[in-house]
Amino acid sequence: MNMQNHPFNLAHLLDFAGKYHPTQKVITRRVEDDKIVEHTYKEVLSRAKRLANALIKLGASPGDCIGTIALNTHRHMESWYGISGQGCISHTINPRLSMKQLHYIVNHAEDKFILIDPIFWPIIEGMHSKFPKVEGYIVLTEKENMPKTEVPNVYCYEELLESSTDDYTWPEFDPHQGSSLCYTSGTTGDPKGVMYTHISNLWHAYALSLSDAIAVGAQDTILVVVPLFHANSWGLAYAGPMIGCNLIMPGKRMDGQAIFELIDKYQATTAAGVPTVWTNLLEYADASGRIMESLKDVVVGGSAAPPSMFTRFREKHDIDLIHAWGMTEMSPLGTINRPSGGIMSLPDKDYRRIRRKQGRPIFGVDIKIVNDQGEELPRDGKEVGRLLVKGNWVVHTYFKAEQPAIDGDGWFDTGDMATIDPYGYMEIIDRAKDLIKSGGEWISSVDMENHAMGHEEVSLAAAIAINHDKWGERPLLIVVPKEGHKPSKESLLTHLSSEFSKWQLPDDVIFVEEIPLTATGKFSKLSLREQFKGHFG
Ligand code: AMP
Repeated sequence: MNMQNHPFNLAHLLDFAGKYHPTQKVITRRVEDDKIVEHTYKEVLSRAKRLANALIKLGASPGDCIGTIALNTHRHMESWYGISGQGCISHTINPRLSMKQLHYIVNHAEDKFILIDPIFWPIIEGMHSKFPKVEGYIVLTEKENMPKTEVPNVYCYEELLESSTDDYTWPEFDPHQGSSLCYTSGTTGDPKGVMYTHISNLWHAYALSLSDAIAVGAQDTILVVVPLFHANSWGLAYAGPMIGCNLIMPGKRMDGQAIFELIDKYQATTAAGVPTVWTNLLEYADASGRIMESLKDVVVGGSAAPPSMFTRFREKHDIDLIHAWGMTEMSPLGTINRPSGGIMSLPDKDYRRIRRKQGRPIFGVDIKIVNDQGEELPRDGKEVGRLLVKGNWVVHTYFKAEQPAIDGDGWFDTGDMATIDPYGYMEIIDRAKDLIKSGGEWISSVDMENHAMGHEEVSLAAAIAINHDKWGERPLLIVVPKEGHKPSKESLLTHLSSEFSKWQLPDDVIFVEEIPLTATGKFSKLSLREQFKGHFG
């Protein structure tokens, strides 16, 4: 053997941080009372090991899926490591999903335990009988904040940690073994699981730390707004211990003032989140006249950042807004917008235009655009095609699916429509997949249409995404009533609420006589979006 080949376990990142960055911190705004607490990486490591021992005592064994329903806190981060470090799968569950989706996901993953923030406990009160495979619930809090409940096998996280030791060595195994699982909305039907591996997460953590990617180092303090339950929180909870920066976990408060205060108090240098959060932050900064002095970069992704957001950050706060694009299926980083040598000499207007695009891939990911026949289109910045990707942290096969999610040459179809320019910058132009993204979270238009068409007075229904200043997009439902019927908006919303969460319901319902169709007889979403584009102001 020419070079050494060490086994890799994601928990080695935390071992490394405990050893070489022992004083760097994870700073958390607690979900129970919004108080701020600090833990060094050394403490986080010890607590993750205690959790590993506690889970083993409760009966967890390698390969088991263990769910988490939690916001960004040190406890949630510890659980990532305590679970996957011992060879189990850390399954992060989005608490904003509808009951139907939660039901599907927990049972599909066959979660053995669920770790849950106390604020989400009512979800379990209402649903535990529907989770036959779950053997116990661990509430991520201390004794005094435990819910009063009749649900069996409910444990207190802090009590479990207190009664365990941190005498634990992470096991060795094949690094291609699954480490963590995250479900994403399918265009139709049930959510689909993406199983990351120890090694794919390591690749991704290295890549995102590069200076032409998210660019983080030991001097940084990163505000992790992007949820730990959404696409791996962009890998930041892995990169943090690896490079030894401080991480700020903002808990439940996402308003502009709360976010501003964390940035200011802890002198955050980088922050990552969806456009909606940055809109709130900019509004607070404008209203209070305060400037974000410590931040050098703000990374935005998950949805397209509006052009005005770049100007507002640059002109008022001297902050470079860094546009990134990715997907749950990509761990999630696909492209990121940093200036390349090639564009530096362009006139300012052209330079700025390019800097607003979703960016260039990082080594480890390849992209191309193709036409309907699958032929590759030129990288001229003009031709729009379906965006395909491949790489070391891109999904191969969805969890428990029979067929791979990629074509014969290894390309994964993102469902996004894009251009790629001669400098390698990709720009998302449209979305071919039938989904609506509101505040960074998905709503399936097809599911909404199918359910709306189950209403006794509805003949046809189309759900479309309409641009919205605050949420990026909001759903609008367009309905053709059955002949002789006059359904009301309220009755449609009530009908939809049995399947959809409140935030997923359409903002408006419009009744029309007919819905325009494409040549192949599908709803012409393009004409509908054009017709109603200003509907939400
Ligand atoms: P998710 O798996 O929930 O992270 O969603 C991934 C999808 O979000 C992508 O396929 C795009 O449709 C959309 N998306 C992510 N980032 C951006 C971005 N910067 N601009 C436009 N759309 C984006």
